[in-house]
Amino acid sequence: MTERTIVLASRNAKKTREVAEILAPYGFVVVPVTQFPHVPDVEEDGMTFAENAAKKAREVAMALQQWVIGEDSGLRVDALNGAPGIYSARYSGHGATDEANNAKLMTELLDVADEKRGAGYICSIALSNPAGEIRLAVEGTCRGRILRAPRGAGGFGYDPYFLIPEYHRTFGELSATVKHRLSHRARAFSIFIPQLMRLSNEFGKSV
Ligand code: IMP
Repeated sequence: MTERTIVLASRNAKKTREVAEILAPYGFVVVPVTQFPHVPDVEEDGMTFAENAAKKAREVAMALQQWVIGEDSGLRVDALNGAPGIYSARYSGHGATDEANNAKLMTELLDVADEKRGAGYICSIALSNPAGEIRLAVEGTCRGRILRAPRGAGGFGYDPYFLIPEYHRTFGELSATVKHRLSHRARAFSIFIPQLMRLSNEFGKSV
């Protein structure tokens, strides 16, 4: 299998690892944008996951003159009218950690009954060519329920609180192999990969 490198416009090491694991069986080697220190941070000022994914892909692709994947994802909680949504990474404020974000989520949901704690993860992915043109854009979702206490140490972000009811396990408890079949990211990439493979014939010209 011919290996192809593709840049991911993310500075989140755990997310990058998931994307690398999802793409590896298809012969793609994922290089995070952190390997290019001269590329400036992308301001995530879009109003939707899709806008932010496209902006990340486009700006990094133009800076590097390479094909780039942008990914924007987060958690939408029904009882919070879709919050934290596009603000998932910075829910508890500037310099937020997963622990602080989860603590805030628990506080916000303190009085919400078990049967009203439904939530969904969303993942938007965009592929930009070196000229900054978006050639692919897809979205994947995954439904679950927010627990009152964490379970498991796998995954990242809100995963120890995110229960997949059919499995009676959180994404913190399920193996990476299972998460990579069920998650919002897995679902988005399952649509994205066949088209990425077709387009990757054009990569040689610029990567
Ligand atoms: P982004 O890097 O701006 O797309 O923010 C993604 C944020 O959404 C992460 O920091 C997490 O808080 C949350 N998130 C997205 N995907 C996942 C996941 O698979 N598990 C847990 N949290 C996630």
